[in-house]
Amino acid sequence: MASEKEKKVIDSKCVIVALDFSDSGEVLELVSGLDPNSCRLKVGKELYTHCGPVLVERLAADGFDVFLDLKFHDIPNTVAGACAAAADLGVWMVNVHALGGRRMMEGAREAITQKSHQPLLIAVTILTSMGESDLHEIGLNGSTEENVVRLAKLAEQSGLNGVVCSPLEVEVLDRQCDDAFYFVTPGVRPAGTEANDQKRITTPVDALNSGANYLVIGRPITAATDPLVALQAINSDIRSSFILSA
Ligand code: C5P
Repeated sequence: MASEKEKKVIDSKCVIVALDFSDSGEVLELVSGLDPNSCRLKVGKELYTHCGPVLVERLAADGFDVFLDLKFHDIPNTVAGACAAAADLGVWMVNVHALGGRRMMEGAREAITQKSHQPLLIAVTILTSMGESDLHEIGLNGSTEENVVRLAKLAEQSGLNGVVCSPLEVEVLDRQCDDAFYFVTPGVRPAGTEANDQKRITTPVDALNSGANYLVIGRPITAATDPLVALQAINSDIRSSFILSA
């Protein structure tokens, strides 16, 4: 184990709980047992389409930092407007597709910069559901890794704060991007828990060691008999390997 001096500093709320539900009642029951000081929450397209901004505002009012995972991808003006609306909702993080290009990402950055509350703005590079043949079919040549690295660099140059990426991509991206550029990784499973439909998984401590800054974890917490206990076990593993910042 690393000595105190060698330990990396990690955000004490680096776990982002993925709220993959379709019903606000279930969500509110789950989060009533969680502590806003020990995790953040992710609201994706399914939950948002069912429950809308009212639920996001409620979660924020309850003290939670919310990652609004709507992966905006449209003309620059439209994405800028959507990001401005996300800032007004008070979310902590919002994302766009890097495939929308430099002008779209710069427009999103600019729109957020003009707001008093400024969420972190991150990009999705290549969806991890896509393999090399899918990329070639839509005209993206080269390997998946080459495409991921190129799009992450473009996101960085466009003023974004980080990217969502697979734990397997973090190490190579970490070498090529600035220290201040964040990596948000799903596909994380505490040792001994179900992989579910995730194929390439990493433990929380391994993902953070590889360079991840934030971990998106859903079912190992949300489907646990006691979600708070599951979250505390993950946080305690993290605490034993890293120094936690406020
Ligand atoms: O339950 P689980 O931990 O697998 O949930 C992971 C979350 O991360 C889900 O909300 C899923 O949509 C999201 N995600 C993912 N893989 C990606 C991108 C996002 O699992 N490549």
